[in-house]
Amino acid sequence: MPPEDYYEILGVPRNATQEEIKRAFRRLAKQYHPDVYKGDKKEAERKFRKIAEAYEVLSDPVKRAQYDRFGHVGPEQSVDFGAEGFRRTREAFEEFFGPSAFEEIFNLFFGEGRRTRTVSRARRGEDLEYRVRISLEDAAFGTTLRATIPRYEPCGNCAGTGLSPGTGLRACPTCRGSGRIEYRQFSMFGTFVNVRTCPECEGVGEIPEAPCPVCRGTGRVRERSEISLEIPPGVEDGARLILRGQGNAGFAGGQPGDLHVIVEIQPHPIFARQGRDLWVEVPVHYGTLVLGGKIKVPTLSGEEEVEIRPGTDPDEVIVLRGRGLPGPYGHGNLKVRLKVFIPQKLGREERRLLQAFTERLPPPDPPRRPNL
Ligand SMILES: [Zn+2]
Ligand SMILES: [Zn+2]
Repeated sequence: MPPEDYYEILGVPRNATQEEIKRAFRRLAKQYHPDVYKGDKKEAERKFRKIAEAYEVLSDPVKRAQYDRFGHVGPEQSVDFGAEGFRRTREAFEEFFGPSAFEEIFNLFFGEGRRTRTVSRARRGEDLEYRVRISLEDAAFGTTLRATIPRYEPCGNCAGTGLSPGTGLRACPTCRGSGRIEYRQFSMFGTFVNVRTCPECEGVGEIPEAPCPVCRGTGRVRERSEISLEIPPGVEDGARLILRGQGNAGFAGGQPGDLHVIVEIQPHPIFARQGRDLWVEVPVHYGTLVLGGKIKVPTLSGEEEVEIRPGTDPDEVIVLRGRGLPGPYGHGNLKVRLKVFIPQKLGREERRLLQAFTERLPPPDPPRRPNL
């Protein structure tokens, strides 16, 4: 069976304006409103789904253009009440039927019905954030840290249920177990039954007979928990590592939240970071630069001997490939900036020799324009 045409479903021409589409949607939504529609509820649900789907696509200029061109939107032809489409459909609906009207219909049709509870007492636990400061070496090679963090853990007394051991749930007295409170709303379009979530049981329909005294019915208690943090090699400064299920325990047995670990890399005493590259400054004797020789260069994994060419300019940067920080596209480099070591104190003999040596040198190059 070919998918039904969205324009036909809404009964509008293909060149209908956004305003016409909206009007058609409202008119049809009202027609198939469960409090108005006299026929079969299943039929009303099917129609309503179609109307909502057609409206969701045609009210969005991008999706509409896609539909006009390809005859469908996305890989599946089903209504996707994703955040944006849901908001738009809901707004158009609520302008007409009043606030929270869409949710009721949505619950009536797409939920498990008026009598069956779809809301559970359980709630997901909160996400937590934890900051760690690690050394540059640990960031480069990875490490495992132990930390103690305050967080909610499932209550041992009630096994996270929030119920006093040996007791259960009872029907909420405020909503008589339905989880909803109904009231009638009068408007120029007629009378509608509005449904609100029961404030006492928050829509669950049941409340504990006797809440657990240890956790006061929440199913969780605050503790200081020892955790182990795996820091991967090459982690970046400010990186956020998400540990699923390591956040606060859920309310009344709900899913735990996540733990977000934010990594801060401590400044290193000798290495400066520039992305994946490291920089280090190494003072060298004048004679070594002129004559060439070997110097010792520190790296993250120990000292390395580096050969200096005769006649090396101190402005030159020596690059040690792959000695930087690890990253997704390979290691960075270690860049060595050479500095001429100027001794601040000289003995009499050294002074005399340097004096005699300097007098024998040719005059230095003339001044020149620097590269800024
Ligand atoms: Zn408890
Ligand atoms: Zn209630």
